[in-house]
Amino acid sequence: MTEEFLNSFMTGPDERGRFGDFGGRFVSETLMPLILELEKQYEHAKTDDSFWAEMNDLWTHYVGRPSPLYHADRLTAHLGGAKIYMKRDELNHTGAHKINNVLGQIILARRMGKTRIIAETGAGQHGVATATVCAKFGLKCVVYMGAHDVERQAPNVFRMKLLGAEVVSVTSGRGTLKDAMNDALRDWVTNVRDTFYCIGTVAGPHPYPAMVRDFQTIIGKEAREQMQAREGRLPDTIIAAIGGGSNAMGLFYPFLDDKSVNIIGVEAGGKGVNDKMEHCASLTGGRPGVLHGNRTYLLQDDDGQILEGYSISAGLDYPGIGPEHSWLHEIGRAKYVSVTDKEALAAFQLCCETEGIIPALEPSHALAHVIKIAPELPEDHIICMNMCGRGDKDIFTVARHLGFEMGGH
Ligand SMILES: *Cc1c(COP(=O)(O)O)cnc(C)c1O
Repeated sequence: MTEEFLNSFMTGPDERGRFGDFGGRFVSETLMPLILELEKQYEHAKTDDSFWAEMNDLWTHYVGRPSPLYHADRLTAHLGGAKIYMKRDELNHTGAHKINNVLGQIILARRMGKTRIIAETGAGQHGVATATVCAKFGLKCVVYMGAHDVERQAPNVFRMKLLGAEVVSVTSGRGTLKDAMNDALRDWVTNVRDTFYCIGTVAGPHPYPAMVRDFQTIIGKEAREQMQAREGRLPDTIIAAIGGGSNAMGLFYPFLDDKSVNIIGVEAGGKGVNDKMEHCASLTGGRPGVLHGNRTYLLQDDDGQILEGYSISAGLDYPGIGPEHSWLHEIGRAKYVSVTDKEALAAFQLCCETEGIIPALEPSHALAHVIKIAPELPEDHIICMNMCGRGDKDIFTVARHLGFEMGGH
């Protein structure tokens, strides 16, 4: 594929699951038949109207879609430049975009006759969304979570338990998200017959990055239509925060072929993108390697050891990034930047005060970049940012950073 001759950015991945040099399926022989079967089943479901009819029904009546496209007028006036819109995916059931994808995978699992769902989770948001949909369908749910995260994310662990899920505390490796994902992959190989592995972002071996993107694309499709209805045209800039990259891919994908639309992904810059790796900016501070079955940009040391990274936002600290983002970065269709914890915290506060919306710390990173660029842009420049999660889960972290004493914490 030579990029100059590419007439669409929406054709990937190829039959080997590659987006340019990224993606693919770097898996053991034992895992290969499982992902080939999944690919076959997904390819079939994807073209089946009854599959999408079931999705649409649940998106409407269970999740609460479509989510609004909101003109943030006070924030716009405060910054004095570009016109800012927010795609309100924080209003979904469970408070974030994760459920868009979980519903798709679990409907697929049911069609495949699977009765046991496994998932990995870092901050716990994907685990909660998976436990929620499993409870809704009466499916057994096992969530792998790094021991370190189990400790840090007690409220989400309890939520998952209330929803009937079993939470497995992973102590292998360093007991974080990366290790939880490895253990989930091992479980899958051992329990193939009844088990479906529900991955929470656009990572993993093919077909996961494409499948998760397809389910999240509802965000961008709605935003595109809503913007046409409100403004009679497309936005000039779209912006989203990136952990693994699923909410961003969901917003970006339907706009990839609209050359007039600037696309910006915002990574977690932590304490600053430096050699000490106190950040989670895989694209701006990492280099290509293989992790969890795909080739992509990763945080790694000189010997290729995967590094943990750091961010104030637990939902952004995945050491990799979806392979499609690596490709969009290399061909220059999307631009990737990073913002620091400090900038994200300031954006969090400004959003609370000007719009009456308490954002999650993840989209606060996207908003921090909006705050940087909006004042320099003309009033007729339209920005659409993805408000992909609400901030209730983050108030204790924010209180700590602002030096506010909260009883019991
Ligand atoms: C999980 C999560 C993220 C990061 O995941 P992506 O796959 O990059 O979207 C971002 N925001 C929120 C609110 C999340 O829950």
